[in-house]
Amino acid sequence: MEGITVFSHSDCIAKDNGENHPERKERLEVILDSIKNIDELNISLKEAPLADFKTINLVHPQTYLDELFSMVPSSGLVGVEKEPYADTVLCSQSKEAILRACGAGIQSANELMNGVTKRLFCAVRPPGHHAETTRANGFCFVNNAAVTARYLQNKFNLKKVAIIDFDVHHGNGTQEIFYTDKSVFYGSIHQHPLFPGTGLESETGVGNIFNAPISSDVTRDQFMEIFSTKILKNVDLFKPEVIIISAGFDAHKRDPLAGVNLESEDYFTITQSIVEIAMRHSNGRVISFLEGGYDLQALSECIKAHLEALSN
Ligand SMILES: [Zn+2]
Repeated sequence: MEGITVFSHSDCIAKDNGENHPERKERLEVILDSIKNIDELNISLKEAPLADFKTINLVHPQTYLDELFSMVPSSGLVGVEKEPYADTVLCSQSKEAILRACGAGIQSANELMNGVTKRLFCAVRPPGHHAETTRANGFCFVNNAAVTARYLQNKFNLKKVAIIDFDVHHGNGTQEIFYTDKSVFYGSIHQHPLFPGTGLESETGVGNIFNAPISSDVTRDQFMEIFSTKILKNVDLFKPEVIIISAGFDAHKRDPLAGVNLESEDYFTITQSIVEIAMRHSNGRVISFLEGGYDLQALSECIKAHLEALSN
């Protein structure tokens, strides 16, 4: 059995979104607890470094980052979006958390391509898949998965990278960033209609975007069938050199923000099916990022299932 490297950092726990916010520090605390209690997997837990601006600039222009970080308050919270989405907020520790979350991806890419390990999980917050080139939204500021994909291409000369997103929300940011970029595959299964409202099947980019919108009443079998025919089949044809996962666990039946009814064990099956494609085309190389998932018990169980499948 191969080992897994997990990148995280206490700065990612320190990010505060205010009382009663679903994207809260306890999410990462239960995930790290769960990871520390998995004895049977060979997990190496490492500290995420701070991302450098030059690498983030592969996706987000410096003007955007300057404006974003100029809004970081010395105390209290500042919203970066207009109503009705006033829940994407910065606190005094946000800059460090954002840079660690992205740095986890960059360092994962280094370890992956330097042959240290083939399976990596970034246990980070804030999440990234809603962050567009110049727009923070949906609790996301910097698109961690997108920066990692561009870094893999830029630094290690990879031609084809795939991002598979099974968070229950559509990754509007990732789609926007790669919408005209044939070298990056983006496939997403998500509840629709639901925030952010994008992700129709007709949004296909330059033949590189694959959206599978589902209604909240799909059965678990239907979910897997749709994921398989709309996403997996197409990523198989794309033959990526590395697979990045935007791993949100909010399609779980306990999740308070959505209506899909997956069980914790389904995340084993979903992850295993992605690993199979990686074994076929990508030399087994997978980097996964924590995105959403807002029920603590579900998160704890789903992380275990996800990492078990990743380690196979
Ligand atoms: Zn989500």
